[in-house]
Amino acid sequence: MSVRSKNKEAAFDVVIVGGGMTGMCAALACARHGAKTALVQDRPVFGGNASSEIRMHICGASSNMMKKDAEETGILRELLLENKKVNTYYNFSIWDRVLFTAMKTQPNLTVFLNTTMVDADSEGRCVKGIHCYQLTTEINWHLTADIFCDCTGNGTLGFMTGVPFRTGSEGKEEFHEKDAPDKPNNDRMGNTLLFKAVDRGQPVEFIPPKDAYHFTEEQLRYRKHADLRAPDGSILEEKADAIMDNLDEATKNLVVDNYCLDYGYWWIELTGEKADIIEEYEDIRDELVKCVYGIWDHIKNGGDHGAQNFDLQWVGMLPGMRESRRLEGDYMLTENDIFDNRIFPDAVAYGGWDCDNHVAHGLLDFDKMPSSIFPFKGLYTIPYGCYVAKEMDNLFISGRSMSASKLAMASSRVMGTCAVGGQAVGTAAAMCIKYGCGTRGVKQHMTELQQTLLKDDCYIPGYKNEDPLDLARTAKVTATSEKHAAVNVINGVARTVEENINCWQSNGIRPEGEELYLSFEQHKKVSQVRLTFDPNLNASIRLSLSSKRIAEQVPGVPPELVKDFDVELRKDGEAVTVKQVRGNYQRLNVLDFQPVECDEVVLRVLATNGIADARVYEVRVY
Ligand SMILES: Cc1cc2nc3c(=O)[nH]c(=O)nc-3n(C[C@H](O)[C@H](O)[C@H](O)COP(=O)(O)OP(=O)(O)OC[C@H]3O[C@@H](n4cnc5c(N)ncnc54)[C@H](O)[C@@H]3O)c2cc1C
Repeated sequence: MSVRSKNKEAAFDVVIVGGGMTGMCAALACARHGAKTALVQDRPVFGGNASSEIRMHICGASSNMMKKDAEETGILRELLLENKKVNTYYNFSIWDRVLFTAMKTQPNLTVFLNTTMVDADSEGRCVKGIHCYQLTTEINWHLTADIFCDCTGNGTLGFMTGVPFRTGSEGKEEFHEKDAPDKPNNDRMGNTLLFKAVDRGQPVEFIPPKDAYHFTEEQLRYRKHADLRAPDGSILEEKADAIMDNLDEATKNLVVDNYCLDYGYWWIELTGEKADIIEEYEDIRDELVKCVYGIWDHIKNGGDHGAQNFDLQWVGMLPGMRESRRLEGDYMLTENDIFDNRIFPDAVAYGGWDCDNHVAHGLLDFDKMPSSIFPFKGLYTIPYGCYVAKEMDNLFISGRSMSASKLAMASSRVMGTCAVGGQAVGTAAAMCIKYGCGTRGVKQHMTELQQTLLKDDCYIPGYKNEDPLDLARTAKVTATSEKHAAVNVINGVARTVEENINCWQSNGIRPEGEELYLSFEQHKKVSQVRLTFDPNLNASIRLSLSSKRIAEQVPGVPPELVKDFDVELRKDGEAVTVKQVRGNYQRLNVLDFQPVECDEVVLRVLATNGIADARVYEVRVY
C-alpha cells in the first residue's frame, strides 16, 4: 500500500511558531503592523498554558496585585477585557473562543491550528523555512518567510536551527547571582496537571483509579490541601495563618491560591528522571495522572480535609511545562538585572513577578516547601537583546525560552511578562519587513520600536511618549472640571506610577457630559484620535480556576472604564466631524477620521461603566 502525502507550500513575511500567550500577542502585533504573518500552533486552541487544555491563570508584573499599577496593558489587556465583557462565569471554553475570534478575524494573519512544526531548514545564519504536519488535514506544510519567531515555550525552532541553549541552573561564578547554586546543575522546574473541584452541597463519593498513588499527611505537610473556607465562602484566616505560620509574605501570596479545595494544585509537579524533560514528557504525564488522582484520593478518603461534598469536575490531561530549554540571545537577563530594577537603553518589555524557583524534584521533595521565593521591590525592563537569537540573523525568541538565566526565568516566565515580550517581538518583526533588515537591523530604529509599543498601549518603565507625530503633545489642554489635572493626558505616561496619577479625572459627570479640550494654535490636519482610559490596573480581571482569585474580582467590565463618549473635531468653534462611541469596554480606543482640518479636539464623556468620574490617561492626535 502506498503512502500518499499531501504537500503544500506557503510564503509569508513572518512565521511565528507556538500559539501560547506569547505567540498570539506576537502574531497580532506583527499582522497589525502590516506584515503578512503566519502563526503555527500544534493544539486545537490558543493560549498554551492559559488555554482550556491546561487552565493556568495569567500572572504578571503585579505579582498577584502586590505591586501597584504594574499590570500589563497592550494586546494582553485587550484580550482580557474582551473576555471580562463576555465571560461572566469564568468559563475556559469561552476564553478559548475569545482567543479564537481575535486570531481568526485579524487581517494579514493566517493561522495553522493542529499544526506541528517538525523540522526547520537553515542556511548559514538564516532560518529558511519550517516543515509542519497538520494532523486534521494530513497536509505537510512547508512555510517560508523572511523572519521567524520561536514562541514554542520549549525553544524548539531555535534548537532545530542550532541556537545555543541551556537547561538547569547557572553556577554562581557566571553571573554572580546571589541565589545561584555554587556549581551549575540541571535542576528544572517540573510539569503539572491541574484540576477543578466543585462543592455539590451533599456528600460525594470518590473511588480512586487502581493506578493512583498513595500519599500520607506527613508527605504533604508542606503542601496545603484542605478546605479553609467558612460556610459563607470566606477564608478562615486564622486557620490559614496557622498553617502558613513560618512563611514570608511572598510565599504566602503564592500559596493563597490554594485556600479552597476547588483549584488544585500547582505543586503537583514532576521533573522527570533523565536529562531531557522534553523527551520525557509522556512518561512524566503518566506519573502525573497517578499523582493527581492519588492526591485527590488522600484529600477525599485520607482524613478530614473538609472535602466531603467536593467532586472532581475537570482534570487536565495535557501537563503544563514550566521550564525546558532557554535559548541564548544577544543578551541574557539575570537575577541582578531584576533585583536592580534595571532600565535598559533598548528596553522593550518589563516584568515584576518575584523570582519563584521551584524545588528540584517537585512533589517528590516532600521535606521542602514546593517553591523558594526571592522577592524584590519594583519592576525591571527586558532588553531587546534577550529576544534576538544568538548566531542567527532572522530569528526572534520569546516566551519562557527567551534568553534569561535560570533565576531570571524564575520571574520572566509568567504569561503576562511573556505576552508583553511577544508583542515587542511581533512589532519588531514587522519593522524588519518594513526596513528589509534582519533582527539586529532594528537596533538602529530602537526609538521607533519603543515609541510604537507605547503608542500601542504597552508599558516600558522609564520611557514615555515622545512621538513627534503626536499633535496632542503641542496642544493646550483644559476640561470642564478637574479632580486630577487635564494636562496629564499629554504628559507621556499612560498609567499611575508611584505618586504620579498621570490621568485626567473629572469631578463627577454632568448630564450633558464632561468635556476635555485639546486646542491648537493653528489648524491641524487630523485623521486619528487615540484615547487611553482607566481599567483600574490594581484590580485583577484574569480568568482563573481559583474561586479565591475569582472572589477578589469585580464582576463584569471594570467600572472605571469610560463607557459612552463622543469625539468632536472643531474648526473655528464649529464641529466639523463627530464620532460617537457607546458601550465601550476597552482601555485603548483608536478612532479614525477622514483627514480634516481642525483646531480643537473635544472628548465628551457621557457615562462610565460604574464610577462617578471620567478618567482618561492619554489622548493622542495624529
Ligand atoms: C502548572 C504551572 C503553573 C504555572 N503558574 C503560572 C501562573 O500562575 N501564572 C503564569 O502567568 N504563569 C504560570 N506558569 C508559567 C507559564 O504558564 C509558562 O511559563 C508559559 O509556558 C509561558 O508561555 P509561552 O507562551 O512561552 O509558552 P506556552 O504557554 O507553553 O505556549 C507555547 C505554545 O506553543 C505550542 N508549540 C510548542 N511546540 C510547538 C511546535 N513544534 N509546533 C507548533 N506549536 C508548538 C504549544 O503547544 C503551546 O500551545 C505556570 C506553569 C505551569 C506549568
